[in-house]
Amino acid sequence: MATGIVGEFLDLKSETEADVLAMQCGDFYEFFAEDAELVADELDLKVSQKSSHGSSYPMAGVPLSELTPYAKALVERGYRVAVADQYETDDGHAREITRVITPGTLLETTDAEARYLAAIVRDGDADGTGGPYGLAFADVTTGRFLVTEAADEGELRAELYRFDPAELLPGPLVRNDDAVLGAVREELSGSVSLFDAEAFAPGRARHAVRERFGAETADAVGLDSELAIRAAGSVLAYVAETGTGVLASMTRLTAYGAADHVELDATTQRNLELTETMSGDGDGSLFDVVDHTVTSPGGRLLREWLTRPKRDRDALERRLDAVETLAESALARDRLRETLAGAYDLERLAARATSGSAGANELLSVRDTLALLPELADAIEASPLAGSPVADVLRRPDRGRASALRDELAEALAEDPPNTKTQGGLLRRGYDAELDELIERHEEVKRWLDGLAEREKRQYGLSHVTVDRNKTDGYYIQVGKSVADDVPDHYREIKTLKNSKRFVTDELAEREREVLRLEEARGELEYELFEALRADVAAEAELLQDVGRALAELDALGSLATHAAGNDWTRPTLADSRSLSIEAGRHPVVERTTEFVPNDLELDADRGFLIVTGPNMSGKSTYMRQAALIQLLAQVGSFVPARSATVGLVDGIYTRVGALDELAQGRSTFMVEMQELSNILHSATEESLVILDEVGRGTATYDGISIAWAATEYLHNEVRARTLFATHYHELTTLADHLPRVANVHVAVDERDGEVTFLRTVREGPTNRSYGVHVADLAGVPAPVVDRADEVLDRLREEKAIEARGGGGGGTTQAVFDLSSGSFETGTGARGNDGGDEVEATADGVEATADGVEATTGEGERGVDDALDPETRAVLEELTDVDVAETAPVELLSRVRRWQERLE
Ligand code: ADP
Ligand code: MG
Repeated sequence: MATGIVGEFLDLKSETEADVLAMQCGDFYEFFAEDAELVADELDLKVSQKSSHGSSYPMAGVPLSELTPYAKALVERGYRVAVADQYETDDGHAREITRVITPGTLLETTDAEARYLAAIVRDGDADGTGGPYGLAFADVTTGRFLVTEAADEGELRAELYRFDPAELLPGPLVRNDDAVLGAVREELSGSVSLFDAEAFAPGRARHAVRERFGAETADAVGLDSELAIRAAGSVLAYVAETGTGVLASMTRLTAYGAADHVELDATTQRNLELTETMSGDGDGSLFDVVDHTVTSPGGRLLREWLTRPKRDRDALERRLDAVETLAESALARDRLRETLAGAYDLERLAARATSGSAGANELLSVRDTLALLPELADAIEASPLAGSPVADVLRRPDRGRASALRDELAEALAEDPPNTKTQGGLLRRGYDAELDELIERHEEVKRWLDGLAEREKRQYGLSHVTVDRNKTDGYYIQVGKSVADDVPDHYREIKTLKNSKRFVTDELAEREREVLRLEEARGELEYELFEALRADVAAEAELLQDVGRALAELDALGSLATHAAGNDWTRPTLADSRSLSIEAGRHPVVERTTEFVPNDLELDADRGFLIVTGPNMSGKSTYMRQAALIQLLAQVGSFVPARSATVGLVDGIYTRVGALDELAQGRSTFMVEMQELSNILHSATEESLVILDEVGRGTATYDGISIAWAATEYLHNEVRARTLFATHYHELTTLADHLPRVANVHVAVDERDGEVTFLRTVREGPTNRSYGVHVADLAGVPAPVVDRADEVLDRLREEKAIEARGGGGGGTTQAVFDLSSGSFETGTGARGNDGGDEVEATADGVEATADGVEATTGEGERGVDDALDPETRAVLEELTDVDVAETAPVELLSRVRRWQERLE
C-alpha cells in the first residue's frame, strides 16, 4: 500500500467518482499513478517518477495558475476532474476535494455550441423498461434549463439525440435500463455520471426545484409531471455539488411538451442529416448549408429551430413574415447583420457574471452588446422592417432596463482594463469619489518616488543615483560605488553590491509605507466596487438572457432570409389540409453542389401514398428527402427550395433509410430495419409524413416483398399517413391499382445503345420493368446468363399471385391477378385492371403476408377466396353485408350463432 503523498492522493481519489484527480502540492497541482499517465497521454505533459517509501510512481504536474486550461481540455474530452486543494492547519497542512469539474458543468468553454447536462428518470419496477421518462436539460454556460416528459423510449432517444448532452445523469432505475444505456452509447458522445440516487427521489427533487425557482414558478411553468420534476431536481443538486458557483446562471425553468413540436425521432434527425451527415460530419448537413449566422448564439438558436420544427401555424406565419420582410430588404438586412456581428454571447456572459468569474473585459462586452439595442432599433425603424415581426422581436426585452445597465457599466468601467482583476485599472475616474481620492494620493506618492532620484542628485550633487524597489529590500536609493562615500549622513546603508550600494532614508521608508498602504486600499476598494458592479450585472441575468435571445433570434431570422434570397427559395403556403404540393422542388443541400433538376410532387387527401421506383442512382432517395426537408423547413418558418409549395402541417416526420444506403455506413442489420419500421407503424398518424426508402432489403426477396407489401397496406388503410415509399421491388407498383390513395411515380432514365442517362426527372406511373437483370445486361454480363436470369425471374413471378387488401370504404378493394392463369380475377366489387400487361404480382410469401395483415389490419380484411366451399362463401358474404351500427345486439348475437352452425 502506498503511503506518504502518493498514499494521500490515492485515498482522496477513492473518495470521488471523478476520472482524474488534481491534488495541490505547494505551487503545483500534481497527478499521480494512472492519473499521471492519462493526463500525460491526453495533454502531452511530461511524466516523471516519484519515489515514495520504496516504490516508484508516475507523476505529472501543472503550476497552480495553469490548472484551468488543462482541466478544461480534459473535461472537453469527456473526463471529470476532481480538484483537491491544500489548506493550512495547526500542525502543517491538509488537503480535501473542493470541486469536481465535469463535462456538463464546465463554464470555461470556448466551444460556441450549447453544452447540456441531462438527467433521465423513469418510474416503475426495477426490471421494467419503456417509459414514461422524465428529462431535464441544463446548459450552465447559457442558463438554459428545460424539462419535459418522454412517453416512451423512442421519444427519449429523439430528445437525447436533439440535445446531444455533454454529460448524462441516469436516475436509479435508468442505470439498469440496457435499452437506454445502449442508445446513449451508440448515439451520443457525452459521458455518463452516476450521481447520488437520493437526489432523484421525488421529495428531495421537488424541494430543490422550489428552493431554486420558488413554489409559484415551479407550478406556473406547468410542471405537473413528477418525473420531470425529479429530473430537474437532480440536475440542480448535481450542479450545486460539482459546479461551484454556476447554479446561479439558471434563472428560469421551461417546460415543454411533445405536442408543441413536430415529432422527429433520432433516426429521422440522422437520416435527414439535419446537423450532421450520415457519416458524422458537420459539413454537408442542412444546418451547415443554411447557417449564415454572425454570432454563436444565433447559430445555436438556428440549430435548435432545425431540430425542433413547430406545429403552431400562427407562430410559423409570424416567422415567415419576418423572413419574408428580411429577404426582400437586402440593405436593411445587411445593416442589421453587420450590427449584430458586433454582439457578444450575452447568455454566456450572464452565466459568467452570476458565477463570479467574469472580469472587467467581459463586463465591457456586456456594455458593448447592450449598446447595440438602440442602434438596431434605429436601423429597423428607418427601414422596411419597421412594423414587421422583426421589429417585435427587438421590442420583447426591456430596453429601458438594458439601457440603464449599459449606462452604469459605461460610467464604471475603464476603457482598456487589464486582464487581472486585482491589479487596479478596472474602473473609470469619476465613478467613485473615495476611490478617486485614493488613486489621487497613490499617484501623488508615486510621483514623489519617481522624482526622488532626480531630486537627490541635484540636492547632494550625486551622480549615478536610481530609486527602485524589490521584494526583499522594498524601496531603496541605489548609488554607484564611485560616489557611495559622498552620500549625506541621513542615508542608511542596507546592502553592498559589486558596483553599488543601497540606502534608505526615514522619509523614503515613510513614503514606502504610505505607498503600500494606498496600493492595497486602492486595490481592495476597486475590487470591491468591481464585485458590486458584477453583482449588479448578475442581478440582471434574466434581462441579459432576454436580450441575448432576441439578438440570437434576429440573427437566425437574418440567416434564413439571407439563404432564401441568395438561393432563390420561396415562401411556402401553409395549409391545414393533408397535402404536400411542390412545384419545381429541389434538395436544399444537393442543389448547392450539383446542377440540380427540379421536380414536382403532389400529395393530397386522395393521393396520399406515392410509390417511387427507378433504377439505382436515379435519384429516388434525393427526391424523397427533398420532400421531407421542404416539409421540415416550412415548419421551421423558413423559405423552401421550390418554385412554389403548399405545405399541409404535419405532427411528425418519420423516415427509414434502406439497408443499402445504411450498409454503406456500416450500421444496419435487418433487426434494426424492422425496429425502425415498427416504430413508424406505431407512431405515425394521419397527420404525419412518412418516408420509406426501401423496406425489406435486409432479408430474402420474398420475405422483403411480403413485408413491404403488408406495411404499405397498413400505412394506407390504417395509419393513413402521407407517405413516400421508394422501392426496388417493382412488384409493389401493382398496389396502385388496388389501393385508392396509392399512386406510382418513377424517376426517368434514358437508355440508348446500352447507355443509361439519368434524367433526374420524376414522372407519373411505375417504371416499366424491373431493373436488376437489366443492369446486369448493361454491365456486360454474358447474354446466356442474362437470358436465364430473365427466365428465372418470370418463373418466380408466376408461382402465385397476391391480393391487395384494404382500401377502406366502398368495398371496391380486392383483386387477384393470377399470372399462372394469365387472368385478372376480381372479388365482390373489385376494380378491374385496365393496363393488364403492366400488372405484376408475385410471391411465395402469401402466407406470411396474409398473417401479417390479419394481425394488424382488421377492418381491411375483405378477401373472399374462390377455393372456399359455397356455404362458407355465403356466410362470409352475409357477414360482409351486416350493418353493425344498424343491427340490434340481440339480433347480431343470434346471427353469429346461426353462422357458426352453418360453418360446422
Ligand atoms: P437512388 O436513391 O435512386 O439510388 P440517389 O437519390 O441516391 O439515387 O441519387 C443518386 C445521385 O444522383 C446523387 O448523388 C444525387 O446527387 C444525384 N441526384 C439525385 N437527384 C438529382 C436531381 N434531381 N438533380 C441532380 N442530381 C440529382
Ligand atoms: Mg437510394
